[in-house]
Amino acid sequence: MSVKTPKFVRNNQRKIQHIMAIKITDECINCDACISECPNNAIYEPDDEWTYAQETSLEGSITLPNGETADAEESNEAISDEFYFIVTDKCTECKGFHDEPQCASVCPVDCCVPDEDNEESEEKLLEKKAWLHGE
Ligand code: SF4
Ligand code: SF4
Repeated sequence: MSVKTPKFVRNNQRKIQHIMAIKITDECINCDACISECPNNAIYEPDDEWTYAQETSLEGSITLPNGETADAEESNEAISDEFYFIVTDKCTECKGFHDEPQCASVCPVDCCVPDEDNEESEEKLLEKKAWLHGE
């Protein structure tokens, strides 16, 4: 099994590549191979609390990609207490760092897959990377 190929659509005579953040499915075997590969610290162990500030340049009151505000240092509840999980707002599909999603590249069971609920353009993912790292 491999990561799905991104869809291409034509819009206003231009080809726009639709890309998605990555999610981890319940096939995860909690092997820990992916966590150190993420350039955005978007991957967490099961039941771990997470913050926007960890391994990013975000601090204090921040505006999230969806326009809401949050405290970068505030701890957030784990998204899964059984499997490793990815914080969508911190995942850029490795854009700006690597050609391929690094978590998907190292995962032995191919459970890092595109998140259809969080489809984002490459432009948006690069904006997110700049936001995360204060560029
Ligand atoms: Fe991190 Fe890249 Fe995986 Fe997203 S795709 S969780 S940025 S390693
Ligand atoms: Fe789970 Fe794959 Fe990460 Fe291992 S590499 S912890 S199986 S998502």
